[in-house]
Amino acid sequence: MNTISEIIPGIIQVKLPLKDNPLGYVNTYLIQGTKGWTLIDTGWNDQESFEAFSKALEILGLTFPEIQLIIPTHIHPDHFGLAGKIKGLSGAELALHEVDKFIIDSSDMWTGNILYEMQEWLRINGVPDNHHPENEDISMDAINLFAKAIPDRGLKHDDIVSTGIFDLQVIWTPGHSPGHICLYEPTTKILFSGDHILPGITPNISIHAESHGNPLGDYLDSLKLLEGLNMELGLPAHEETYTDLHGRIEQLFAHHKSRKQEILGTIQNESKTAFQISSRITWMAGEITWDELGPLDRRIAVTETLAHLEALRVENRVNKIKKDDIVFYKAP
Ligand SMILES: [Zn+2]
Ligand SMILES: [Zn+2]
Repeated sequence: MNTISEIIPGIIQVKLPLKDNPLGYVNTYLIQGTKGWTLIDTGWNDQESFEAFSKALEILGLTFPEIQLIIPTHIHPDHFGLAGKIKGLSGAELALHEVDKFIIDSSDMWTGNILYEMQEWLRINGVPDNHHPENEDISMDAINLFAKAIPDRGLKHDDIVSTGIFDLQVIWTPGHSPGHICLYEPTTKILFSGDHILPGITPNISIHAESHGNPLGDYLDSLKLLEGLNMELGLPAHEETYTDLHGRIEQLFAHHKSRKQEILGTIQNESKTAFQISSRITWMAGEITWDELGPLDRRIAVTETLAHLEALRVENRVNKIKKDDIVFYKAP
């Protein structure tokens, strides 16, 4: 695997390892400016990822203080995890969409409360008790992949972040994360699409204890927002670069449409919890059965199913029923 690639002069892709994770790596991007470099996404906070980034800087002949600005596309650990450490070593400004900045500024992310809230959330959605203890360890591991970092600046839709050489136009694309952004460079027609659009993987859209509203509805609206974009090259945060933005958007629309149908099929005759529904639909394009899914994958399956159920509820295609503190869903 080529860790460092020059996409065009002044835009460099650095792949950082995600140890023991099926994604394998995260693509981070260094963008040249007149006063220093901007870093889009950071890798997560472990020794391997940090050493790979330090090594890449060394190969490129750069030092930490030359990084002037860090922009994580969203707050997931593989994008934001190392931000605090890199900020500490470089003195760079840390900028994030204002919605994700708000989540960081106000959340229980740095305490154990988030674990309790997640357990409670899973319980009311029908996840049996014997699934909980292992979840706790997984959540704790995820929290350790963040280094605490307080963003300096909140970004808004349509903000232009100029490096002096490139202009990065902020496109707010909520869904995968409430404050997810893509960055569009109009002169080169390059789109940094984060996890919003990946060429092969469908991004995880979930509802969990810390999220509210209708993230799948937001995600589909955010895809529509990019339909008219004149893009020549897509630079995603995972997998390889791509050029067919519109074809990919169509595939993603079709995917979620068929997922909704499949979910509706399980609740025609009787109401079920999100957990029960998750165990009756296909996962990983049918390549793996529910029984073969590990505990973290099952948890993600339930939170993804919940995102589809909420989108269906907003479209008046399912009813949400609470019985004895447990939430059930049924097609009307
Ligand atoms: Zn993500
Ligand atoms: Zn990611």
